[in-house]
Amino acid sequence: MKRIVIKVGSSVLTELNTIAKERMLNLLSLIAQARQKYEVILVSSGAVAAGYTALKLDRDKHISKKVLAAVGQPILMSGYKNKFDIYSIDTSQILLTEEDLDSRTHTKIFQQIIEKTLENGILPIVNENDISTTPEQLFGDNDQLSAHVAHYTNSDTLIILSDIEGLYDSNPKNNPKAKIRKIVNKITEEELSQKFTPNSRFASGGIVTKLKAAEYIMSQNMEMFLCSGYDLTTAREFLMEDKHNKGTLFSQKTKVENKT
Ligand code: GLU
Repeated sequence: MKRIVIKVGSSVLTELNTIAKERMLNLLSLIAQARQKYEVILVSSGAVAAGYTALKLDRDKHISKKVLAAVGQPILMSGYKNKFDIYSIDTSQILLTEEDLDSRTHTKIFQQIIEKTLENGILPIVNENDISTTPEQLFGDNDQLSAHVAHYTNSDTLIILSDIEGLYDSNPKNNPKAKIRKIVNKITEEELSQKFTPNSRFASGGIVTKLKAAEYIMSQNMEMFLCSGYDLTTAREFLMEDKHNKGTLFSQKTKVENKT
């Protein structure tokens, strides 16, 4: 069975300071379906955003952000638990820092936990451990964390469900004619050095962190698919029907189609 990592961002999981229940339900239905074909690992952001639903602290302040994550992680997980119960899927919570993947011994422990969890039919839900880490120990965003998780768990593909539908050939905010690039084999230095641009107040990533994740994934000879987390049609087609209509596939194995 192929193994995939699905990463979902805060902007997809929350709306107007509450958990976006319907989107979460749609995501869970996709995961339940995908588990018939793949071993699935979920990387989920949203702890800080969920914390803010209970406590209005300033997320830009270092300690306040940690408090929000501490308050929000159980809110997020209970949201998942209630909804996964509908599908009789048991979940595990795995909170990671960079240090958990910084040595062979640590990495092996992480890998063994994931293997045992999957072997027992449990869905691992991974997030960065925002609570106890210093800035040096943080991945900082779940795009890059999910790329590392995909690599160290020997996954085949990383799926990033985002607030954008793919990588555009120019900035869609300034250019209404911007088109989604279907396949990307290479990411340039210029693209990687753009300013960080998260669209949501609670997200740490933006297109640059997604490109960094994609670059890492391609350097490991794996594939990453970036598509909408709001409407899951594209992700479902890609995963369940091997169809690639929208979304961007970052891959060195698939060649970019020549324009005629
Ligand atoms: N770990 C953070 C959270 O759960 C999110 C990091 C990110 O947005 O990439 O809120």
